[in-house]
Amino acid sequence: MRVSRPSFPDELAALVREGTGPHGLLAGGLRRSYGDSCINGGGALIEMTGLDRFIRFDRTTGLLEAEAGVSLAAILKLAIPAGFFLPVTPGTKFVTLGGAIANDVHGKNHHRAGTFGRWIRSLSLLRSDGSEHTVADDDATGLFAATIGGLGLTGIITRAALQLVPLASSNMAVETIPFGNLGEFFKLSAESDASHDYTVSWIDCLAKGDKFGRGIFTRARHAGDGELRIKPPGGPSVPLDAPGFLLNRFSIAAFNEAYFRLAGRARQATVSYDPFFYPLDAIGGWNRLYGTRGFYQYQSVVPPTVAADATAEMLQTIADAGQGSFLAVLKTFGDTASPGLLSFPRQGTTLALDFANRGGPTLWLLDRLDAIVREAGGRLYPAKDGRLPPAMFRAGYPALDHFTTHLDPGMSSTFWRRMTP
Ligand SMILES: Cc1cc2nc3c(=O)[nH]c(=O)nc-3n(C[C@H](O)[C@H](O)[C@H](O)COP(=O)(O)OP(=O)(O)OC[C@H]3O[C@@H](n4cnc5c(N)ncnc54)[C@H](O)[C@@H]3O)c2cc1C
Repeated sequence: MRVSRPSFPDELAALVREGTGPHGLLAGGLRRSYGDSCINGGGALIEMTGLDRFIRFDRTTGLLEAEAGVSLAAILKLAIPAGFFLPVTPGTKFVTLGGAIANDVHGKNHHRAGTFGRWIRSLSLLRSDGSEHTVADDDATGLFAATIGGLGLTGIITRAALQLVPLASSNMAVETIPFGNLGEFFKLSAESDASHDYTVSWIDCLAKGDKFGRGIFTRARHAGDGELRIKPPGGPSVPLDAPGFLLNRFSIAAFNEAYFRLAGRARQATVSYDPFFYPLDAIGGWNRLYGTRGFYQYQSVVPPTVAADATAEMLQTIADAGQGSFLAVLKTFGDTASPGLLSFPRQGTTLALDFANRGGPTLWLLDRLDAIVREAGGRLYPAKDGRLPPAMFRAGYPALDHFTTHLDPGMSSTFWRRMTP
């Protein structure tokens, strides 16, 4: 893969003019996507992180215009002292504006705010033929809808206008509540989605018997008043790849037991926004905990009517296979429609998991989970995928044919070639 990193718009235009080659071009951000949607094996990748300038910021309305390579971390540095916050944020701030748009990312407030793309007022695209297009959120051509969640395949997003939301304090009022089973999770979720901006749960996916479906529910709001302070950078990091045995089923079961006991009673606390939204950002190189064989992320969403049964079946399948996940996250998505033709979020329940790569047995388990998600009428998140079967992608994304009418023929990715063999 030929990687270039332009720093100025004319360098970007020149790279596009150079032509695309058989595997085309792809724009990339901070490569925080877990799978192959952010790589273009055998082709060209234009890393947009050098095109990271702020263009305009209205401190009264919170409308921010910036180049697409700007990171959410940089936006927070500008926005928080000015009394604004990201309307939607994923679980890491080390993603670019362009990457957040191209995956139409979601956060813990999906039930209130919908996806990131809902807050984009306009964006500019550079297509591989050199043409430039600026499209607004009321665009009737379909190019805006195809680009939100469009996996970088409609062209290079060069800049965008993002609506920020007002913020009174950089602190969060957070409550954690243990639950004993999935029924309790769904009840807590329904109650809390009505009263809190942010909701999310950790679930013990190795628990069996009377512990099956237990977890810790977290709900939070921005504090009503207080300081507006940026979290200073830094924190521990993982210096080496951990040996694979650290992550066997017994260590995960022991971690889950300890975590459940530690957080095993309801608590309320006031914490800074940073550890609340971005716990993994504090541990540099956390992915190295999985050793050199790495891991698979797996994130599904299933419709509300079948969510309880499908989630139980997935958890049972994982527990039976004995391949647990440290970071098992369960959340209900609200009914706000996503603006993108290929946006992942839809109303229902989403389960995000990571599995240490043990080769065949792990792939076998993921195939079993696929069958449950397909049967439930759900879909998987391309940003977290490295193995999704093309037929399941087509079944999960009914607007795919419409999307392909907006495809830029010069753009491609390893993921896209895998999905469209
Ligand atoms: C710890 C962690 C937690 C996460 N939590 C969440 C979460 O809660 N919710 C969620 O939705 N996601 C989550 N993610 C995934 C992450 O938010 C997305 O994958 C995000 O899109 C990555 O952005 P990036 O800048 O790294 O882009 P990359 O990963 O480099 O690229 C992502 C996609 O964007 C395209 N792209 C990038 N820049 C441009 C551009 N300028 N023009 C056109 N296309 C472009 C790429 O081609 C690719 O298709 C998490 C990831 C990590 C590592």
